[in-house]
Amino acid sequence: MALIVKKFGGSSVATAEKIMNVAKRVLDEKQPGDKIVMVVSAMGDTTDDLIHLAQGITKDPYQYTREMDMLLTTGEQVSISLLAMAFKTLGAPAVSLTGSMAGMQTNDVHTKGRIVGIRPKRVHEELDKGNIVVVAGFQGADAAGDPVTLGRGGSDTSAVALAGALGADTCEIYTDVEGIYSADPRIEPNARKMKEITYYEMLEMARLGAGVMQPRSVEMGKHFGIPIHVRSTFTNKPGTIIREEYTMEEKDFIIRGVAHDEKVAKIAVLGIPNTPGIAHEIFSALAEANIDVDMIVQSIRNIEKNVTDMVFTVATDDLGQAKKVVDKVADKLNAIAVLIEEDVAKVSIVGAGMLGNPGIAARMFGALSRAEINIDIISTSEISISCLIKGAELKKAVNAIHAEFFPENSQV
Ligand code: ADP
Ligand code: ASP
Ligand code: MG
Repeated sequence: MALIVKKFGGSSVATAEKIMNVAKRVLDEKQPGDKIVMVVSAMGDTTDDLIHLAQGITKDPYQYTREMDMLLTTGEQVSISLLAMAFKTLGAPAVSLTGSMAGMQTNDVHTKGRIVGIRPKRVHEELDKGNIVVVAGFQGADAAGDPVTLGRGGSDTSAVALAGALGADTCEIYTDVEGIYSADPRIEPNARKMKEITYYEMLEMARLGAGVMQPRSVEMGKHFGIPIHVRSTFTNKPGTIIREEYTMEEKDFIIRGVAHDEKVAKIAVLGIPNTPGIAHEIFSALAEANIDVDMIVQSIRNIEKNVTDMVFTVATDDLGQAKKVVDKVADKLNAIAVLIEEDVAKVSIVGAGMLGNPGIAARMFGALSRAEINIDIISTSEISISCLIKGAELKKAVNAIHAEFFPENSQV
């Protein structure tokens, strides 16, 4: 007898037939006495479709974040009701709950909400009645009761947080790939499936664009000490376990994976005074608007005139709002110009083993150079190195770097 949280992503519940298949599989695998909590995403591309719908009303719907949340939470409401019906038609008692009904409490930062507490009283009650409980991912409610979404890919975080709050025995993330790979298998044909990866390395992979898990969900897993099993909806093969420590041979890897992110944009504020407080002026304005800034470079433009340029990247989804904020500050600072470049992408390598292994950066840059790819900006963390490159060269870059660190007949 176990308490299991199972999360199914959008492609796993994209059609009525797929929803029926999910329900059948869950019932087939259920052991007598098991308590099952399902967390589901919106069907297929529903969330993207809803965003496009809003773009028919205004070019930048994210200026109305509360209304976006009201709109986007409907996607998951459709899939929970259909999945609960699917269980019922198969003879299994089930009930659907919105995030708020399941006790997901968030702050009030619409479209980028954070879970601040979980009171899963209703979930426990429904489980005790013998129901399979189907919870809407990606959503909760703030103190005023308004719907708040948790950022793209947020159903992963709903599932892991709920598993933690319920004290679940396992948290399984079912998706359209068989686990976590050394690179996105959609663009790297030689990507290798991992048996295990640590929270530490997975968090860095996710933060740098490996969209298979939302970064916050990995933090939640670490916080609650819950191992997360990422596996396929469509096969029974074992997937990848995200946990605190390696238990197998995989600990010897220097580089764990190559991550990429196409959804970045570069902003350059040119010709601003090179005096104390300028960086604070720009980045505090962005922080106030809840915009995360990633790679930052300040360069000396003209020492005699004491002016400088500030170049940084933001997520494409934030570009509209970021531009508004930066234009205002640039005006105030008498900047010469604000340039935006959208055809950029970030490619990164991640691995705890690079600590104490000099030469890793040189190997990454060598692979890019042999592929004739120019590097625009470089940034590093303790366990990662990232390069900003032209968007059109992203696949070539991932393939070249992957071949460098994971040659075809080397050991897994
Ligand atoms: P879901 O709808 O199930 O949440 P997502 O599309 O959010 O699925 O995440 C799964 C996708 O993540 C895969 O289809 C794959 O293209 C992408 N992905 C990116 N990096 C990786 C990686 N390192 N390993 C596995 N999948 C990855
Ligand atoms: N439906 C939401 C999204 O597309 C949440 C998720 O799928 O995890 O981002
Ligand atoms: Mg996802």
